[in-house]
Amino acid sequence: MAQIDPNDPHKFKRRGILFIVSSPSGAGKSTISRKLLASDAGLEMSVSATTRPPRPGEVDGQDYHFVDVEHFRQKVAENEFLEWAHVFGNRYGTPRAPVEKALSEGRDVLFDIDWQGAQQLYQQAGGDVVRVFIFPPSLDELERRLRARGTDSEEVIAGRMARATAEISHWDGYDYVLVNDDVEQCFQNVKAILEAERLKRSRQTGLIGFVRSLAKSGRD
Ligand code: ADP
Ligand code: 5GP
Repeated sequence: MAQIDPNDPHKFKRRGILFIVSSPSGAGKSTISRKLLASDAGLEMSVSATTRPPRPGEVDGQDYHFVDVEHFRQKVAENEFLEWAHVFGNRYGTPRAPVEKALSEGRDVLFDIDWQGAQQLYQQAGGDVVRVFIFPPSLDELERRLRARGTDSEEVIAGRMARATAEISHWDGYDYVLVNDDVEQCFQNVKAILEAERLKRSRQTGLIGFVRSLAKSGRD
């Protein structure tokens, strides 16, 4: 996954990042992800496939690739997913090809996937994966946000609340944990994490050449 990042101020070759943001539904990961994508041309969203039906306003190919169970099974059999999992009674999977293309073209990839997906990507790509978990400030506030979003029925909201505690219990499978209290502050923190991770020495595969050239051009 070695590549050149157009946004890297030093233009060193470096390894691409698989940047995962998870949270209980309603904590704000889509809001943070949208802000991150809008602020960073070097980051691309991974669009998952799902067997769940679209919600009002969701666009096929943009929010998800909406597929039936048969089609999903076929993609699993053909190894087209980097990872996939059952979530809330539906199947969700990360298409492999667009992620590999983005990384080979020098973009990092953002994933809105659950803890099972984070675990699977980490098993495959280890050091190239950065995992961020977002907490709501409280369960009451989580419920308020789910209602305020206005996309789910009372029954669906009750289901999401019932699963929130279970999702939160996986917080220790993440590299960073943040509370989304003030959305702007949380966004700035997520952005800082991404930028710092890009600068990690272990990702800078172009550093050795640079250091050698420094040494050569030096003092002889
Ligand atoms: P998720 O993607 O985690 O399910 P969303 O990003 O859809 O959550 O956020 C759920 C709702 O909460 C949305 O209406 C969003 O505008 C709102 N929201 C997100 N972050 C905050 C915040 N820090 N304070 C108040 N409302 C927020
Ligand atoms: P929703 O149906 O609310 O869009 O998403 C439900 C949950 O599925 C969220 O926690 C989301 O992060 C997770 N999810 C979405 N796409 C994927 C995916 O491709 N793989 C995995 N493992 N989880 C996903």
